[in-house]
Amino acid sequence: MWLLLPVAAASGWWAAARSMGARDSHPNEANPVYFRGLNYLLNEEPDKAIDVFVEMLEVDSDTVETHLALGNLFRRRGEVERAIRIHQNLIARPALTTEQRGQALLELGQDYLRAGLYDRAENLFNELRQEGQHLPQALRNLLLIYQQEKDWKACLKTAEELERHTGEDLGVDRSHFYCELAQQAERDHQPEAASAYLHMALEQHRECVRANHLLAKMALAAGDTPEALRLLKDAIRRNPDYLPEVVDEIVVAYRELGKQEQLVEFLQEMAQDHPNQGAELHLVDLYHDQQGETAAIDYLTNYIARTPSLLGLIRLLELQCSQPEGRNDTVLQQVRTQLQRLIRDKAAYQCSKCGFEAKTLHWQCPSCHAWGTQRRRPLHES
Ligand SMILES: [Zn+2]
Repeated sequence: MWLLLPVAAASGWWAAARSMGARDSHPNEANPVYFRGLNYLLNEEPDKAIDVFVEMLEVDSDTVETHLALGNLFRRRGEVERAIRIHQNLIARPALTTEQRGQALLELGQDYLRAGLYDRAENLFNELRQEGQHLPQALRNLLLIYQQEKDWKACLKTAEELERHTGEDLGVDRSHFYCELAQQAERDHQPEAASAYLHMALEQHRECVRANHLLAKMALAAGDTPEALRLLKDAIRRNPDYLPEVVDEIVVAYRELGKQEQLVEFLQEMAQDHPNQGAELHLVDLYHDQQGETAAIDYLTNYIARTPSLLGLIRLLELQCSQPEGRNDTVLQQVRTQLQRLIRDKAAYQCSKCGFEAKTLHWQCPSCHAWGTQRRRPLHES
């Protein structure tokens, strides 16, 4: 930081000296204030140095860039209050050009964001939005703020505006905003509104597993099991990554419809096309019910040999423990408990964008704020 400061200051001095030189032929006369500031810097008195540089601004507005750079550096270092002071001071200058004022507003807005002063940040970014200055950055920051405030309608409006100006596709984000609105409507006991929002979500992003899953849950609750099953299978066909999230409900739906054979067929197909995503263990249960313990253990032993998995091991131990000769095998019981503890402590989800790990599924990554990037880790990694 303090290595960079003199450089920033020197560029400001150079700009100041240059403009003074343009006005008269004694550029050295511009120096005293600058050297006073530099002295403070060298004596590690940054607060006084800042005051001096801010003072310089009144002498010559060509130093605006220097102050912007300084404020930026302070914000990046986490010294938000200093950054705010510098940027507020800049904005108060009447001599700023429109462009310079816009830049200072943008920086101050980011300071406020860093400080958690969302209301103030929102006002500044909205001012830029209305003036059409730094639109992409202003809109991106507004989007962050509205997500923090869970104002999903404002998020939708802002995302659409951002797409118009940058040409980027925020379909995934928009579908999650509609899912959030749907869940709000559900909490307010407005199932029809919730359903409408979920269909809007699918219109934004046809592969939205979350919307399909929520629609399926509503169909199950309303007693329309065939529709629920259709929705869940559709979701998996479009996005197989999320099989572990919906496989339990698919099994429930098939069982409710009394379609055991089709269920076995479906799980076998899934185990083959998307191995290690939970289908195998459901198959073990089905073989257990239909063909007995030995068949279940055979299938499971085979599966574990191919793809070692903690969940598979636990299930095998459970089956072994229920065998008559294993009934009192305390070692097996202990191993089972240990394995269960291991899997409970393990972060099962990871963001495919930033690598953030979590124990439960977050539709929006708490770390990088991307939507729909968290995935269940393959079970054999556990
Ligand atoms: Zn992330």
